Amino acid sequence: MQVRFWGTWGSSAPFQTSLEFGCHTTCVEVRGDRGDPVFIDLGTGIAPAADAALAAGVRQFTVFLTHLHLDHVCGSCACAPLFRQDCLTTVYSEHVGTLAALRQVLSPPLFPVYYDGFGARARLEELPECGEMRLEACGLTVTWRQAAHPQGVTTLRFDDGTNAFVFATDIELRLRAENEAFERLLREPYPASLAAIDGFFSDDRGDYHKNWGHSTWLEALAVATRNQVRQVVVTHHNPHSTDNDLRGFERASPGARWARDGQSWSIANGHAQEA
Ligand SMILES: [Zn+2]
Repeated sequence: MQVRFWGTWGSSAPFQTSLEFGCHTTCVEVRGDRGDPVFIDLGTGIAPAADAALAAGVRQFTVFLTHLHLDHVCGSCACAPLFRQDCLTTVYSEHVGTLAALRQVLSPPLFPVYYDGFGARARLEELPECGEMRLEACGLTVTWRQAAHPQGVTTLRFDDGTNAFVFATDIELRLRAENEAFERLLREPYPASLAAIDGFFSDDRGDYHKNWGHSTWLEALAVATRNQVRQVVVTHHNPHSTDNDLRGFERASPGARWARDGQSWSIANGHAQEA
C-alpha cells in the first residue's frame, strides 16, 4: 500500500514562513497493490494530486470526503477531472447536504459560474454513518466511523489484509466517549501500520479551543500510542505555525513524523517506511 500527502494544512494555506511543509489544505492519496488511486478530501491538494494522476493516465477518480468544512472541499474548483469530459469522478460521503455544499462552492458568488458538469461525469454516493466497503479494483477495504467534530467527521481505515492506514483529520480527541469507534479503528482487527492524526493545536502556545473539533499534537501521539499504532504522522497543521514550530514539535517526538505536502509512505508486512 502507498500513501502520499498532497495537502497537510488545516483551515487555510499557510504563510510564507511555513512553506517547507507545503502550501495545500487536506488531500491524501492511497493506493492498493493494483488499480487506480483513492483520494481523501478535496482540499487544495487535490489540484496537484489529480494533475499527477491524469498525467499517469487515470480517468476514474474516487474521493472519500471526511466532512464538508471549507478547507476540505475548496479544492473542488481546481480539481481538473471535474471539468474534463473523459473523466468520471465518484465522491463518497456520509454527510447530509454534501451535494448542496459542493454546488455552493462551485457557484456564484464563490465561483464565477454555475457548475453544470461541463461534460464531465461526476456522481455522489451517499454512505451510511458507519460502514465498510470493498474496493475490489484496488484491493482495499475501506472502513469508516464517525468522530468528534462540529457537524461530525468521518475517520477512515484502508486495509489490504496485512497493512492498514488510518486517516483522522479534524478530530477532538479530548472528547474520549465520542471517539471510541475511532480508537477501535486504530487497533482492530490489528493495529494500524500508519495513522495520520489531527495535531492542530500546541498546548504550550495556549491556543487550544474547546469544541473547535481539533486536538493538540501531544494528544495525537498519545492516542496512537495507546492503540499500538506502528507509525504516527501528525497532520492538519495550524496555519499560524511556522516551519520552525513544526520542526520543533517533530524533534521533541522521537519516532513520530509531521506530514508534509509530497511526503510518501510505502507500507508492507505491516510496517510503514517513508519513501
Ligand atoms: Zn479542517
